[in-house]
Amino acid sequence: MAFTHLPLLTSVPRLHHVITTRHGGVSTAAFASLNLGYHVGDDDAAVTANRRRLAEAAGFNLDRLVTAQQVHGMHIAWVGANDAGCGATSWEDAVPRCDGLITAERHLPLMIQTADCAAVLLTDPVNRVLAVLHAGWRGALQRIASTAVRQLIDGAGTDPARLVAGIGPAICPACFAVGEETADAMREAFGPAVVTAHDDQPHVDLPAAVAADLRSAGIPAAQIEVHPDCTQCRSDRYFSHRGQGGRAGRIAMVAWWE
Ligand SMILES: [Zn+2]
Repeated sequence: MAFTHLPLLTSVPRLHHVITTRHGGVSTAAFASLNLGYHVGDDDAAVTANRRRLAEAAGFNLDRLVTAQQVHGMHIAWVGANDAGCGATSWEDAVPRCDGLITAERHLPLMIQTADCAAVLLTDPVNRVLAVLHAGWRGALQRIASTAVRQLIDGAGTDPARLVAGIGPAICPACFAVGEETADAMREAFGPAVVTAHDDQPHVDLPAAVAADLRSAGIPAAQIEVHPDCTQCRSDRYFSHRGQGGRAGRIAMVAWWE
């Protein structure tokens, strides 16, 4: 099974994280082959088999995995030992209506699923708390990233200056054409650099927008890593909602403390 990583995050002691590609699973057609999402039209048994393969290859306990019913919002849930296994092998018992998970618990793997949206990992290496987030353009505009930083400050005594952050493979600006309204809102929220014009149509740099939101919350730029791959340019390697006409599997970011 092929994983990719965010090198800056691999340097955080006792933190583990993996980002999957679409390879190494049992799903077929639009979900070939390592689809990790239950809610996208794939066979549930195949998704469970894929998650078992992932857990074994990555070295975490699937029975403790926590996932979220992601809704492109900005609600973030704190989870602990009592939540272990929520959504591990079904959509129904995943943490409802939330796009971010935070924990200070050890050996509690948290998963975010994406296909063009940005998966974000925030870690406080001193207080040992981590957050995983799902940020598409809607979540980015609702400032889910800086909201998570504030929750870490309020709930865990985090100093944002020591947070280490990573943004996983997501759609690149060349691929991400948007309407004028979205472009205007992005420009207003995150500055003119996050919108560019290609073929007379505005395009948004989603990872740059999320990174700008993280910087606005006090994380130094040098501690924010952006994965270089675009999910649509590299739809041979990742699932891409846009690149596959809206019918696609989900890659995942999983993170946990040892
Ligand atoms: Zn691209």
